[in-house]
Amino acid sequence: MTQFAVSHGELMPGGERLSTLAARVGQTPFYAYGRSQLRQRVTELRQALPAKIRLHYAMKANPMPALVGFMAGLVDGVDVASAGELKIALDAGVSPKDISFAGPGKRDAELRQAVAAGVLVNIESFREVDVLAHASQALGLPARAAVRINPDFELKSSGMKMGGGAKPFGVDVEQVPALLANMGRAGLHFEGFHLYPGSQSLSTEAICEALQHSFDLAVRLSQHAPDKVRVLNLGGGLGVPYFPGDQRLELKPIADQLERLLQLAKAQLPQTALVLELGRYLVAEAGIYVTRVVDRKLSRDQLYLVTDGGLHHHLAATGNFGQVLRKNYPVAIGNKMDVPASQLTTVVGPSCTPLDVLADRLLLPEAQVGDLVVVFQSGAYGASASPHQFLAHPACVEVLV
Ligand SMILES: *Cc1c(COP(=O)(O)O)cnc(C)c1O
Repeated sequence: MTQFAVSHGELMPGGERLSTLAARVGQTPFYAYGRSQLRQRVTELRQALPAKIRLHYAMKANPMPALVGFMAGLVDGVDVASAGELKIALDAGVSPKDISFAGPGKRDAELRQAVAAGVLVNIESFREVDVLAHASQALGLPARAAVRINPDFELKSSGMKMGGGAKPFGVDVEQVPALLANMGRAGLHFEGFHLYPGSQSLSTEAICEALQHSFDLAVRLSQHAPDKVRVLNLGGGLGVPYFPGDQRLELKPIADQLERLLQLAKAQLPQTALVLELGRYLVAEAGIYVTRVVDRKLSRDQLYLVTDGGLHHHLAATGNFGQVLRKNYPVAIGNKMDVPASQLTTVVGPSCTPLDVLADRLLLPEAQVGDLVVVFQSGAYGASASPHQFLAHPACVEVLV
């Protein structure tokens, strides 16, 4: 893991010694998200991709308000998945015109809030058309709407499939023409289409293929649309390497594919802006989870470090958030970065369950009580995707550094 500097054997998140940062935070465990790492990722992506591609942050990946505020200054829009996230995005100063709202089961009150805020709603059912139309009439405000399509393909080799086959997300492509007709009759302000075929893919071919299929589908359905297609949100699904053997995505083929689609769009969807919405790709590698060794035990031949953090703050790192086989996230002793790894170590959390494993038989430097265990690649689906109440351990803190 080279995204954070090391100095005198200590990791330097935000340019600060990890031990000093821990003292400043006032406790372990905590998450730290690096501004320079966040900025660098967006910059790299902008440099690689065609300038016309609009970049959105899907804040479900990390909804920490300070981080959302920081990301808002770097990207072209923010995608929210609830009225709660909508509030955070608006509080962060994101313009309503740059916010879109997707997710199954949007409650009536949430749809009303979206209309009142003036954000784009990605419609995922026939019911949402009616509720939006009522909200629009009651408030005397236009309802901005796009259709989230459940495509007839999926993102191959992805960690989570979110399109294709039967899904609770979006409207099946074969039902979309009827839905578009309803939207027209209901007087919704149609703006475009949204697709999200899958998440955490490390295959450029699979991503490029899904982008092409998504584009083709939008072209086909645009013939049924009540108005011009102004936005086509192609999703993304770009993954990050978590485990040994994972290869970092090459951006060039994805950039070339997007350039091809922009060329095709000139003729087939001339008024359409193409959007990518990315969550983990933008933030995962900018985050670390820091926890302190509370106990060091030898059980039979196995060395255990028991830390004050674990599954209750970082479910994903323990392999319990959508992984089929548990694999180790990259883990280090953050205050012993210059000590050679010599001991086969299992790092566990304080919860009384065999699920609470942060590293399973990983080669680490010799560590003692008080040392700081760092879990890398922790900027996405960490704090907000973990069962904090489990066993009533103390809460974690999140800082932007
Ligand atoms: C979860 C989600 C994302 C973000 O997925 P990542 O894998 O974090 O990039 C984007 N869009 C939608 C609709 C989602 O549900």
